[in-house]
Order: sequence, then structure tokens, then C-alpha cells
Amino acid sequence: MSVKENLIDLLESIDKEIDLAGRKKDEVKLLAVTKTVDINRIKDIKEFGLHEIGENKVQEIEEKYDALKDDFEFHMIGSLQKNKINKLLGKIKLIHSLDSLSLIEALDKRLASNNMELDGLLQVNISKEESKSGFYKDEVEEVLEKMQKYKNLHILGFMTMAPFTEDEAVVRSTFRGLYELKEKMASKKFDNVNLKYLSMGMTHDYKIAIQEGSNILRIGSKIFGERNY
Ligand SMILES: *Cc1c(COP(=O)(O)O)cnc(C)c1O
Repeated sequence: MSVKENLIDLLESIDKEIDLAGRKKDEVKLLAVTKTVDINRIKDIKEFGLHEIGENKVQEIEEKYDALKDDFEFHMIGSLQKNKINKLLGKIKLIHSLDSLSLIEALDKRLASNNMELDGLLQVNISKEESKSGFYKDEVEEVLEKMQKYKNLHILGFMTMAPFTEDEAVVRSTFRGLYELKEKMASKKFDNVNLKYLSMGMTHDYKIAIQEGSNILRIGSKIFGERNY
């Protein structure tokens, strides 16, 4: 199937799921994950009104940036090494993968010295899998409290990845855990924090994510086909 056929299917399926969940269409954003996808195939999604793309490597953003920057805004969704911060600054709209205090500190410092600002999401390891990065749920409040020290990096929500499993209940409880964390933290006041985004749901679990309150779906292979790394 072509990218266009895939997208027609996907957009229809997302709309249907939003309806079933009793939510509003403009509440849920689709972020097309374009890692390993070449520039011409990415451009095919423009006519569907998709103008935000997610990449997980700084180098790939650098390679694609000039060709795509007029039509698309980039999101960083993969783990960021501190020594690559400089190469990323000015190129992205949102970083979904703030997964350590030392990264937050380094990023804010670099932003401040360049007189720039950036929005980001805390990556939360709800399922506590060793293989996943991110803060544990019970660390998040302390991180949000520390955000008052930083002036150039702003926290707009949370991101998580569910375990890769056919067990729907496990996936659902991961997403529900992130939603509940957001509700709880949003009832408190933190400087430099405005919790509005929940980035959760990928090709295999986006329907559950919609049901559980996601408002940014990060979907790659259902649009562009299986990746061959
Ligand atoms: C690759 C990736 C996705 C998209 O995964 P698909 O299963 O292809 O939809 C979403 N989020 C992150 C962080 C990714 O690295």
C-alpha cells in the first residue's frame, strides 16, 4: 500500500476511535514518525494537512532539515545525548524525550546562552521496564518542582511508551497511569510548567491511547510501512 492509502485508512480509523471515545477531533494530534523514511515519501503526507514530523536521531534531523523545513516542523522523540544539543537547537518545535535532570539542566543552559526557548515533555517510564528510559512516576513531582530554576525550557506535558505486548490490559494501564499522573500534577502549581500534552500511542496501540486520553499520537510504520533497520 502507498503512503496515501495508508494515511486515508489511518485517519479514518483515528476519527472513528475519537468518536467512540466521545472525544473531539481537534483534541488529538497525529505526529507522523518519519525516522528512516526518505524525503520524497515524507512529502506525500503534506496534502493530508500533516505538517509535524517526529524523528529520533539528531543526525537524521540535520540531514533532512533543509529539504523539509519549509513544509514541516520537527519533533525530537528519541533520547538526546548532551553533546548533540547544539546541533538540534533551533530546529525543533518540541522535544518529547526529556528523560533526565542532567539533560534538562544542560538543555536549559544551552538555550539560555543562545537566547532561545524550547518546549518539552518529560518522558515517563510508567511500566518500569529496565529497557526504557524516562523518569519513574514517583520522581516526576520533584522534577516539576525543579523546573522553576530553568527559564528557557518549558514543560508542556508527558510522553510514554507502552510495553510491546499483545496484552491490552498492560498497555491500557500504562496509558491510564500517565493520564492520572497528568491530572494529579496539573492540579498543583509549578513555575515553567503547563501540563497540556500527553504524547502516547504508536502503530500498535494508538486506539487504546485515544481511549485513555492521548492528545499526541506518534505513528510511523502504519503510515510509511515497516522499517528495515
Ligand atoms: C519509532 C517511534 C514511534 C513510532 O513507532 P511505530 O510503531 O512505527 O508507529 C513512536 N515513538 C517513538 C519514540 C519512536 O521511536
